Amino acid sequence: MRPKGVAILGATGSIGRSALAVLAQHPDRFRAVALTAHRSAGALSALVEEHRPLLAVLADPCALSGVQSGGGTRWGAGRDALLEAVVHPEVDVVLNALVGAAGLEPTLAALRAGKRVALANKESLVCAGPLVMRAAEEGGGELIPVDSEHSAILQCLRGAAPREVERLILTASGGPFRTLPPERLAAVTRADALRHPTWEMGAKITVDSATLANKALEVIEAHFLFGVPYERLEVVVHPQSIVHSMVEFVDGSVLAQMGFPTMEIPVLYALSYPERLEYRTRRFDPVAAGPLTFEPVREECFRAFRLGVEAGRLGGTAPAVFNAANEVAVAAFLDGRLSFLGIAEAIESALSRWSGGDALTLQAVLDADARARRSTETFIRG
Ligand code: NAD
Ligand code: MG
Repeated sequence: MRPKGVAILGATGSIGRSALAVLAQHPDRFRAVALTAHRSAGALSALVEEHRPLLAVLADPCALSGVQSGGGTRWGAGRDALLEAVVHPEVDVVLNALVGAAGLEPTLAALRAGKRVALANKESLVCAGPLVMRAAEEGGGELIPVDSEHSAILQCLRGAAPREVERLILTASGGPFRTLPPERLAAVTRADALRHPTWEMGAKITVDSATLANKALEVIEAHFLFGVPYERLEVVVHPQSIVHSMVEFVDGSVLAQMGFPTMEIPVLYALSYPERLEYRTRRFDPVAAGPLTFEPVREECFRAFRLGVEAGRLGGTAPAVFNAANEVAVAAFLDGRLSFLGIAEAIESALSRWSGGDALTLQAVLDADARARRSTETFIRG
């Protein structure tokens, strides 16, 4: 059997590197056909040297100068080169590990071309859930989650009929401010927010985990992926990040998927699904894991969480507006232009301007996204 060809979008990032570690343990099963990055030509060149893909792409067309093709790798740059890599005939699986709404068009293109998308980029499903699910159906592509919660749910759902499922219960670590008194949230800094207690991730998702916006994005992601209404999606805080999520069935039985937190396992599962492959990693030890605890989300402190779930329930382009406002606000927070609590305020302001609209065409989603970005920038500038 020829190894599956994998395109890793966002190869220089946290998930991208986990994916390359997974490929390294299974060279007979998977090979890197395309590697992409935003504009870090040096970091991508180093990965190209090591993994020798057919294609290397920098999403920013200005970043290519000085890079030399060779060694069997063709270099490209810009949006079209990225979309070309996604649909390349040697690519079987597209691991989408881009950050933000920038991941949407590659997800759609891959699904329309009948590829498997191993989806880390939850934002594409949040912005355009109905479009993405339709692209999969029409193009014959498959959407397999990489997000650890959704991978856990997919594993718990193996063999279950939809009518047997009562609830999906997503776990959340609670982030670095889980127990911080509410009056101290106003003063938290960028460095505080980037210190995640259990996971090592890129900056944007780390801030999303601190505000709990990430968990709202994941609730919306689960709604579209598993076709479960919001009333049957719940979130519980589980600070140890050992139980990755749970499914409750109609007879009251609950299945949970567990393990020490590493993204390599859900990445491997998304690549090999429905098969399970061997993997050398730190083995689970229930005694070493220690007590496992669960508590409710402090929704009054983490307003971005509630705003995101509300946007999900509103439907249409509201989740795209939530996502765009969050992206702009997080970037401003990371640049020191917005306070931590300002992130939820900026999101609330953008959502208050939302006047309805379906997310049934790419143009409708891109327009809603662009409007929300502009209004959020204006809000932040005051
Ligand atoms: P990261 O910032 O570490 O890496 C992002 C990668 O995408 C980099 O290679 C970067 O060059 C590229 N990139 C960024 N912006 C781009 C753009 N506009 N156009 C093209 N390329 C761009 O991010 P990450 O932590 O690996 O997260 C990637 C995605 O996976 C996000 O959607 C995140 O929510 C999701 N995710 C991450 C984790 C994790 O553990 N890191 C867990 C679950 C889900
Ligand atoms: Mg997650």
